[in-house]
Amino acid sequence: MNDTPQRNRYVVAADIGTTSTKALVIGLDGRVVASRSVEYPLYTPTPDRAEQDPDEIFAAVVKAIGEAVGQAGVSARDVLCVSFSSAMHSVIAVDRDGKPLTRCITWADNRSESCLDELKREHNGLGIYRNTGTPLHPMSPLLKLMWMNRNEPELVKRTYKFVGIKEYVFAKWFGRYAVDHSIASATGLFNLRSLDWDEEALRVAGVSRGQLSEPVPTTYVLKGLLSGYAERMGLAPDTPFVVGAADGVLANLGVGAFDPGVYAITIGTSGAVRGTVREPITDPQGRLFCYALKEDFWVIGGPINNGGIMFRWVRDQLATLEAEEARRRGMDPYDYLTELAASVRPGSDGLIFLPLLAGERAPHWNANARGCFFGLTLFHEKKHMIRAVLEGVAYRIHSVVTALEELAGKASEFRASGGFARSAFWRQVMADVLGAPVVVPDSVESSGLGAAVLGLLATGEVSDFSVMREWARANVRHEPDETNHRTYERLTAIYNDVYDRLKEPFDAIAAYQKQRIGGG
Ligand code: ADP
Repeated sequence: MNDTPQRNRYVVAADIGTTSTKALVIGLDGRVVASRSVEYPLYTPTPDRAEQDPDEIFAAVVKAIGEAVGQAGVSARDVLCVSFSSAMHSVIAVDRDGKPLTRCITWADNRSESCLDELKREHNGLGIYRNTGTPLHPMSPLLKLMWMNRNEPELVKRTYKFVGIKEYVFAKWFGRYAVDHSIASATGLFNLRSLDWDEEALRVAGVSRGQLSEPVPTTYVLKGLLSGYAERMGLAPDTPFVVGAADGVLANLGVGAFDPGVYAITIGTSGAVRGTVREPITDPQGRLFCYALKEDFWVIGGPINNGGIMFRWVRDQLATLEAEEARRRGMDPYDYLTELAASVRPGSDGLIFLPLLAGERAPHWNANARGCFFGLTLFHEKKHMIRAVLEGVAYRIHSVVTALEELAGKASEFRASGGFARSAFWRQVMADVLGAPVVVPDSVESSGLGAAVLGLLATGEVSDFSVMREWARANVRHEPDETNHRTYERLTAIYNDVYDRLKEPFDAIAAYQKQRIGGG
């Protein structure tokens, strides 16, 4: 890092998420000196839609950056750059004047489910995945565009560009449509090897390359903010804006998981496991995503639907009396339930939970999968069920890790983040199930920190990501217990066997449920 000693200098990182945009002002030592988050609504007029208003998001981004810079009290010329992270998979149709013709259709929008079979069976779906790295799932912009062509062909004809939310924001600031390789690599339309739009995917989606943004590297810099935006954000008009990358890949960087064998496990409401590789790798079976961070840095991994939401389900449905008891004692119910779980032996005395209540994504991508307890006896008490749920989420993570290790090599260390990382007990269970150390980095806002370091790289302030080792120093470490690991090896084998054998019954029960209660 250059050390021009006379002034303190800062990087501003903005993370455009699905519920809010968070802006951070970060010193060159990685210290967050100001942080401001501005929320916006998610519109779900029908169960299969999940949309947002692009202009509400744009206003929130400007506000969050302006307020964070104001809160930090830094002068515009001390801001080295502003760098961006954003949610993946969003689609907005805009007209020639840049006006939105649709809302921002988010990753959580499921309308395009109806095109999934057609993509798989009639259009070389797996082949397209292998070239583009985006799993075949309704979240994928490829499927969203197929859906629009089938259902709103007039709209497609009138559309000047289909853009993601970050492109929309940048176009307002700079009057140009540019998409970073990272967000592009999560559209299902972008060829990972040629770093350009994939002709076959475009044909299947029914869009032309002229209707998409120009792909640029994640370190691409734009300058020259239009019409007064610089003043509103407390920045100079020529402050470099680094286009940045997608939130998932930046989170990996932000927790310091960028060396071979170091994998990141994030469990918030849902969850994901990710590792980095130096060139794009896709899975012959289509189980994992591969998204770009830079030309020589790719993040592969798999998302799971049922992460922390399983523990919330336990708290709110299964162990309501216990949660009440915790509140009476002035304790966080999660901590109390975790204590109960800790009083049971590893392996929950042979009770196995398949935490598939919300269907599942990686590695099986099976929307019809359903939850179940397996192995219940009269011996088992509620505390066993609680422990089995926490272990079950770790078994889910284990199944993604197994797929990941086949492609990216053996894991030597896991870096934990998200709500689950608050629990020492759950982290130890994870280490014991996976048989490798689980560490917890300091960094809280991992996508934002990752964006900041990418910004420093883009502006030549650092020459690689190694500064992140300092920024994301790990303070807590859980070593796996060998005896417990052997117990869990036996149980994960049974878990996988039960899952495999339930494939057809899952379809049957899901069909029944669809008739009775609707939904997916
Ligand atoms: P989100 O991704 O929804 O923003 P968080 O990252 O805050 O959510 O994670 C929420 C989840 O984290 C909860 O549903 C719960 O499973 C888990 N969690 C939060 N606090 C604790 C705790 N003290 N102990 C164990 N798990 C916790």
